[in-house]
Amino acid sequence: MSKCAVFLDRDGTVIVGTPTYERVDSLDKVQLLPNTLEALKLLANLDYLIFFATNQAGLAEGLISWDEFNQINDKALQLIAPTGIQILKTYVCPHGEHDGCECRKPKPKLLLDAAREYSLDLSCSWMIGDRPSDVMTGVNADTRTILVRTGVPTVECDKATATLPSLLEAVEYISAQQPSE
Ligand SMILES: [Mg+2]
Ligand SMILES: [Zn+2]
Repeated sequence: MSKCAVFLDRDGTVIVGTPTYERVDSLDKVQLLPNTLEALKLLANLDYLIFFATNQAGLAEGLISWDEFNQINDKALQLIAPTGIQILKTYVCPHGEHDGCECRKPKPKLLLDAAREYSLDLSCSWMIGDRPSDVMTGVNADTRTILVRTGVPTVECDKATATLPSLLEAVEYISAQQPSE
């Protein structure tokens, strides 16, 4: 039976997003957003497979190495581990905006790859992120979408299923959509 998933953008949605021009030279810069732990604790109790889907143009631009990316991602996973959540896989686009790759959000490939690898039903899945490109990734992959205002606070996207203040409200919203059994 195919499962439903929640795809989380990482930077600006789960952890504090650093400007792309700033080199993440210290793991101290990896910090959770204020409601992340509470949000993920709630999400861990819902019946979804959870993934990260992240654009990392800094890899293409040489701002961070793969080794640094992995250290940062491991640190983020370590910080959220107490919630009991399991991030099954981190899907990454390592290309730049102008590389013309097939995987950079808003293209749906990261989500489609996950759907194939984990037999997901995307129509009952969600993409949550802080940018319109996250919303459009979900739209392009036929998931439902939530725009959270924890990254660039003023950003809008009228294609989002919902626009909410933070990941906590997003997970509460998803929780309320679940069919009662
Ligand atoms: Mg983001
Ligand atoms: Zn790519």
